[in-house]
Amino acid sequence: MTGSFLYSTVQCGTLENNHHEPVNKSAMTSRNFTLHLIFAIALILGQSLNAQSMHHFANARLILGNGDVIEQGSLLIRNETIIDIGPSLDIPTDAVFYDLGGQTIIPALVNTHAHLGWEAYGDWGSQYFTDENLIDHLYRHAYYGVGTIISTGSDEFEIANRVKLEQLRGNIKGARYHLSPGLGSPGGGPNMRFTNDPNFWGVNPVTDPEQAANTVRRLASEGYGIAKIWIDSRDELRGAQIKVVPEIYRSVLQTATDYDMRIIAHATTLADHKSLVNAGNRRFIHMPYDMAVDDEYLDIVRKNNVYIVPTLGMITKQEPYYIPAFKDPYFYDQVPQSVIDSLNSNYTPPAKLSVEAETLSVTHANNLYKLKDHIILGTDAGAVGDFFGYADHVELSLFVRMGMTPMEAIIASTSRSAQAFGLTNVGMLQAGKAADFVILNANPLDDINNTRQISDVYIRGERVDRESWRNIWTQED
Ligand SMILES: [Zn+2]
Repeated sequence: MTGSFLYSTVQCGTLENNHHEPVNKSAMTSRNFTLHLIFAIALILGQSLNAQSMHHFANARLILGNGDVIEQGSLLIRNETIIDIGPSLDIPTDAVFYDLGGQTIIPALVNTHAHLGWEAYGDWGSQYFTDENLIDHLYRHAYYGVGTIISTGSDEFEIANRVKLEQLRGNIKGARYHLSPGLGSPGGGPNMRFTNDPNFWGVNPVTDPEQAANTVRRLASEGYGIAKIWIDSRDELRGAQIKVVPEIYRSVLQTATDYDMRIIAHATTLADHKSLVNAGNRRFIHMPYDMAVDDEYLDIVRKNNVYIVPTLGMITKQEPYYIPAFKDPYFYDQVPQSVIDSLNSNYTPPAKLSVEAETLSVTHANNLYKLKDHIILGTDAGAVGDFFGYADHVELSLFVRMGMTPMEAIIASTSRSAQAFGLTNVGMLQAGKAADFVILNANPLDDINNTRQISDVYIRGERVDRESWRNIWTQED
């Protein structure tokens, strides 16, 4: 059995046809991944689907993603699409019936900030950016109920575009994959973990307004609808790089608007945030971390309907309440014991927070609360020791810890995240949208940690075979 066969087997969790060959871990780690073979096998297996059937999920609490709840209702899907949803529906007599007995359905999550392909669970680097690893990361998101993932600025484009195309062709499942090229000052861009990698493929440098505009035009002509721009220089760390100046990002933002390209800016200070919003930026990776947000900022954020990915998981690792992944059994689904042991032995517990750090952490929580109607989900997983899919649930918990209600946290992580990038097909349970949803054994409106009580995940109307994936991921090599 080759690595190729693994994906075709496990991806095919269908509603009627849910039997699977056991797959071994050595198949997964083999790097000689031959795509054409998976596709051939996927086509054969695909014929077993009963594509025309309707599927009726009854007796469920339906949390729609926009703030509405149907306490006891039905969801009707066919193929990849939600056909109808409501308290009582006209159900075709031949629809396949599922009595959910009071379980809760939420839309699959939409994660707008992660870095796919580099993480190898025990090691990390550009050498792991292969078709196989990238696809594995899509399935890891799907396993934890993330239906859509935007990978921001660190993808190797030949591989990434090949995987994306094959997913659009239906040959690869997992979370819906969106990639966004990165822009930054020459030599700048992501954190040193990436830029110190000898094979880092770099970002698209922007050096003056005209060149920056041409870069955006080129990316638009290549079909990219989303791009990331790093504003920070990170000079203190790396020396020579310069910060992207307002003349350049204004040019990027204006040109992107002309091409309907959505820019998301990495910026961490209040001053940069204000300047960027005034230049036309509407999406941020990171919120202002340096000081309390003020009325001037809140005013322009509200007037311009700005979306903000706060990446709380990244900034709370020194907090006394932080629980490292290796201590959380919910993470154990995706790694063997040896990885847990290695994370444990490499861990340095945080020192007691200084008075300044404590004050700053209160500021962060206050900022998040004031910005709560603009918050969207993003984890930065794959870049800084946060793990795919699992980190999404950590982030949801942090949203609520810092003052959002569970409903606000769910809206932020589903419909608002989708809106921020014009992903009109996902992020809500609504007739006509994609059948991407998560069935939970407990109500997340009672406790946000109940998003972890996953019974089943469906993406494109297909059940994700979580058990097979868990077996693969937890096996030692
Ligand atoms: Zn990032």
